[in-house]
Amino acid sequence: MIIHRYVSDLLQSNMYVLEECGHAIVIDPCNNIDPGRELCIDKIILTHEHYDHISGVNAWKEAYHTNVLCSKICAKNIINPKKNMARYFDIFCEIQNWVEVDWVPDTDSQYTCMAEETFDDETFFLWQEHNIQLFSLPGHTMGSIGVLVDDIEFFSGDSVMENAPVELRFPGGSAKSWREISLPRLELLPDSLYVHPGHFKEFFLRKGG
Ligand SMILES: [Zn+2]
Repeated sequence: MIIHRYVSDLLQSNMYVLEECGHAIVIDPCNNIDPGRELCIDKIILTHEHYDHISGVNAWKEAYHTNVLCSKICAKNIINPKKNMARYFDIFCEIQNWVEVDWVPDTDSQYTCMAEETFDDETFFLWQEHNIQLFSLPGHTMGSIGVLVDDIEFFSGDSVMENAPVELRFPGGSAKSWREISLPRLELLPDSLYVHPGHFKEFFLRKGG
């Protein structure tokens, strides 16, 4: 499996394309990113409902005729420009201080999109002989999930980033859920993971060391 990372103009969020045997899965599609080649996309997965991680859903769905999979809560929030933060995204870019941005690209304050496949707490499927496991990680948002591939590659959205604590104070975030549900759940993950975060670079996570 080859994993490509593309960095968007929207707070430098990461979009990932997993490729295997001519097939692909896209995680957090961003607008204005051109993969530069033909892809057969089997599925789009969303790590959470924030605008910078979903801005390309409609364009990618139209271009590749594929389904979107995310948590039930994420699906409920992406159809609402307030809940997916599109409504305030330009202002948010100005006041946030965790990603350095020189300029803010045009944003669509009315942006919404839809998911065709959802799950409550966790789900998994086999894709091109890879085990894809999705489970909720509420905290940053209540619709946040982690995506674990073959117990090695971990797509963590905005929940686990290197040298940046998870942000729990945005509207719709919950420190309590993070503490009580997500932290114990992260403890159950394999000891060594390669993390593909929603922002910034990939890194190795070794628990307890
Ligand atoms: Zn976010």
